[in-house]
Amino acid sequence: MTSSTQGPLCGPVSAPGKAFLIGEYAVLEGHEAVVTAVDVRAYAHAPRDQHGERPDPTSPFVAAAVELVTGWLRGHDHEVPKPDSLPVVTTVGFTTGARKLGLGSSAAVTTAVVGWYLRAAGLDLNAPQARQAAMNIAREAHTMAQEGRGSGADVATAVYGGTVRFALGGGVQPLSLPGWLTIGFFDAGAPASTGSLVKAVEAGARRDRASYELAITELASASRRFQSGLDEQSDPATAFGMIQEACAVHNEGLRALASLAKSPIMSERIETILGASQWAELAAKPSGAGGGDLVVVFARDSAQLDRVAVDLYHRFGIALVRKLETDANGLRAEPRPPVNSRIHGLFKRSVTQRREAVALATGLDPARFKDADATALDLETANHMVENVVGFLTLPMGIATNFCLNGRDYLVPMCVEEASVIAAASNAAKMIRAGGGFSGFSDPPWMIAQVQLVRVGHDSIEDVAEWVRADKAGLLELADDSHPRLLARGGGARGMEVRTLDTDTIVVHMLIDCRDAMGANLLNTVAEAIAPRLEQLSGWRSVLRILSNLADRRASHVSCRIPAAVLEANDIDGPLVAERIEEASRFAELDPYRATTHNKGIMNGVDAVVLATGNDWRAMEASAHAFAVKDGRYGPLATWRAIKGEAGRTIALQGDISIPTAVGTVGGATRTHPTARLALDILGQPMGGELGLVMAAAGLASNLAALRALATEGIQRGHMSLHARTVAMAAGARGAEVESIAQRLIDVGEIKPERAEALLGQLRAGDD
Ligand code: NAD
Repeated sequence: MTSSTQGPLCGPVSAPGKAFLIGEYAVLEGHEAVVTAVDVRAYAHAPRDQHGERPDPTSPFVAAAVELVTGWLRGHDHEVPKPDSLPVVTTVGFTTGARKLGLGSSAAVTTAVVGWYLRAAGLDLNAPQARQAAMNIAREAHTMAQEGRGSGADVATAVYGGTVRFALGGGVQPLSLPGWLTIGFFDAGAPASTGSLVKAVEAGARRDRASYELAITELASASRRFQSGLDEQSDPATAFGMIQEACAVHNEGLRALASLAKSPIMSERIETILGASQWAELAAKPSGAGGGDLVVVFARDSAQLDRVAVDLYHRFGIALVRKLETDANGLRAEPRPPVNSRIHGLFKRSVTQRREAVALATGLDPARFKDADATALDLETANHMVENVVGFLTLPMGIATNFCLNGRDYLVPMCVEEASVIAAASNAAKMIRAGGGFSGFSDPPWMIAQVQLVRVGHDSIEDVAEWVRADKAGLLELADDSHPRLLARGGGARGMEVRTLDTDTIVVHMLIDCRDAMGANLLNTVAEAIAPRLEQLSGWRSVLRILSNLADRRASHVSCRIPAAVLEANDIDGPLVAERIEEASRFAELDPYRATTHNKGIMNGVDAVVLATGNDWRAMEASAHAFAVKDGRYGPLATWRAIKGEAGRTIALQGDISIPTAVGTVGGATRTHPTARLALDILGQPMGGELGLVMAAAGLASNLAALRALATEGIQRGHMSLHARTVAMAAGARGAEVESIAQRLIDVGEIKPERAEALLGQLRAGDD
């Protein structure tokens, strides 16, 4: 019987995004395409009050999905959720800043909403019939919302996940990717309008049918060649050769289509990525309709892809969006909705309520927050951590809200003794969020192990350096042999550099991919392992064998672009604030005295996350300041520019930070300190360079907050009440006395310890 309910089964449901591997355009002419699910996800879930979430019935994809799925449920005698129980849709990872990445969010959204209704009606989303129903309904809804366009391949991957072979009207067949194949997607810099590119190609086809057919023939043969490459699983070298040929043929076909359509299908940035990939002997092609969206790069291992990523980012500012190492799941039920970092009024709540709110937002068990108690680290553990233990110094840990980075929300744990750091970071992150949040790219986790060689004998230093260089392959192998477990985790030696420091000193750098560890001990092991061989090769004597803390190959690069209006402060309009922040940035760029203070403000945010996650803050500080002097003079780690629109008016503020982030999510105290473990769990157990990106974002936010205050009202006013509280506490005020004394100090305009003590005396004596 059909009825209207919303039962307990209305749990969250998610569906992945997608990207074309090959077969674009050819698929529209009936040929096969290969499409893969990408693990960025759209979630349909019940609204959460603490985040102020509301369903958006105006989205054409949600509306079409609801209309068709409720119709289907009624037609099949299933219970239909109440009309007012529309889910909220949250997308995670589909954007960089305010820009969409072309990863198929509309199909994922449509599929997630359809799945949510099916699950709410009691269907098991893993059952083949439910999947088939989801596929049919979502496909129709997606086509309806797109007014008839679309190949349906994106819905197929949203429902089934993995990689599929797909042809219009020919169904969907799963394909498996060989285990050795690493796939990365690069951001080609501009959102492509698939619709207008396809229309331009159609117009070109009408003008010159023969050339069009020739190009499509090439694209179709490329798709077939690629699929044969995937079948050739036993011999990676042959299979990869076929994938390279397939990409080359495909790109020729696309260039032919581009000239036919007189459209920028192969943009300059796309050609740059293709060139760099080809030079590194990888295979690459645009993913999707071209025009600037994404480029897919195929490699035989992750290290090859990392090398191209480093080259493209550092030479052209082109970022690797994500690696696709395993096939993503399709439509699935989720235990909880994704993190939403906007928690209304967190600062107004009690500590217990805040713990509950963060637990609710992250899905952690509220009982875990006992690990945030001052007593969480016990004496016995502490006694094993350092020597001559007599006790603890505890610091407050707070949560910074509003962070959104690469389309994903984070609640950021921060440990710091200075008032206002967490509030300022949260406030700045909210402004940055208004511009789409932070976008970032992290270098691969490459660190440098150094071996110092000093002169023995009279050989020329150039000859000695050359003898060492000549055995690079052997030395890389030796480095790898010293850490077989690191190798098994996908890390290992990535390169070697030989530097001559003076006529009697050579230093050899071994670049090591440390994966998720900070790597100090790993690197020291490598340095010691290769030193004897270096002595043999050079005839010189090795002295120091240790990591370098200048982690300049392992930086995190984060940007944001804030709409100027959001920056308004104290009756100073937003564009003017943006311009003043740029002036403040230029001051730091010109003057090391200012740059040091500028960077201190950045480290307020960075160090607080480094500390909260149990990482080595001395290493972070040493590295950051050495990096700040990389251009020969100490400079700012973050810079700001006002962005002009039409008529020269400032429309936005652009901020950029690059900072070395030699931090780990394993090793050191990250796993031994219970509060650090909790902090990493609150962050969602970030992997790879993600933790470094969060730290860089916290630094950029802190910098923005400080510069905005300085460029408008000056820093003292905002600091006054927080400073007054600190002074009141230092004078002995407790509980409600703290606020009372702080307010009196502000009222008398004298925030001094002796005044606080006097006021406290009066308060306690009841003299006021
Ligand atoms: P560590 O010594 O704990 O080693 C990390 C361990 O984690 C390794 O044994 C590794 O095999 C293992 N591991 C598990 N999963 C891993 C994964 N996914 N990726 C990588 N490794 C994984 O820690 P570390 O990072 O080598 O060294 C960090 C510690 O060394 C910090 O406590 C730091 O303070 C200290 N330290 C620093 C310096 C310096 O900065 N100059 C010098 C010496 C020591």
